[in-house]
Amino acid sequence: FVVLKNVCKRFGDKPVIGNLDLEIKKGSLVTLLGPSGCGKTTVLRLVAGLEKPTSGQIFIDGEDVTNTSIQHRDICMVFQSYALFPHMSLHENVGYGLKMLGLDKAEIKKRVDDALKLVDLEGFGERFVDQISGGQQQRVALARALVLKPKVLLFDEPLSNLDANLRRNMRETIRDLQQRFNITSLYVTHDQSEAFAVSDTVIVMKEGDIMQQGSPTDLYKHPASMFMANFMGEAN
Ligand code: ATP
Repeated sequence: FVVLKNVCKRFGDKPVIGNLDLEIKKGSLVTLLGPSGCGKTTVLRLVAGLEKPTSGQIFIDGEDVTNTSIQHRDICMVFQSYALFPHMSLHENVGYGLKMLGLDKAEIKKRVDDALKLVDLEGFGERFVDQISGGQQQRVALARALVLKPKVLLFDEPLSNLDANLRRNMRETIRDLQQRFNITSLYVTHDQSEAFAVSDTVIVMKEGDIMQQGSPTDLYKHPASMFMANFMGEAN
């Protein structure tokens, strides 16, 4: 559904991604896992259309989107900084994108109420951002993405500002919503336990290359190289 073919990315003469082939099947959540600087965010930004590949092609839902910008790709991003509007209620925050699309008020209300319910924030619509916790703010950010029903959802370290309990809690929410709605997603993190908790397929990256790809069990039981054996061992 999301396919990267032979994608390379250089910044100036610095190679960051080299000959990357990657596929995210429709309805699945794939995680990119690796240390800081290995190129995870760059891959996400390439899928989003915020960066153009130096060479190679990117397809979303069968369409070659390599040369299109973010506005022409049906995707939403969830970041670690929730980037909510402080002067708007939660309802207005979640409904903002729908308003921009020109939907009528009744339709917006229904979709926003449904989205807030999905993230366990039913009845919170009239509150403002400073009246809810950080974990709840991240739920609003998730609702704001879900309400648009994008073809692809991109997560960039979405939980790194939350404390350990909230992180666990949000992992479950993301996993649950992902499974119930079959949302095609790419999830970037440097946290191994988070990657294994949210996704069925984990791609381990190092210096712009894929070291191994598989289910968490595969990666544990059958590390393909010494690097992978060490990498998996480090988290224990
Ligand atoms: P982190 O977890 O720290 O965000 P990452 O794995 O997501 O790391 P990227 O942000 O994709 O890594 O960065 C990969 C490499 O590309 C880094 O060495 C970074 O310095 C470099 N890089 C990223 N964006 C640019 C840019 N716009 N110009 C020049 N170099 C860049």
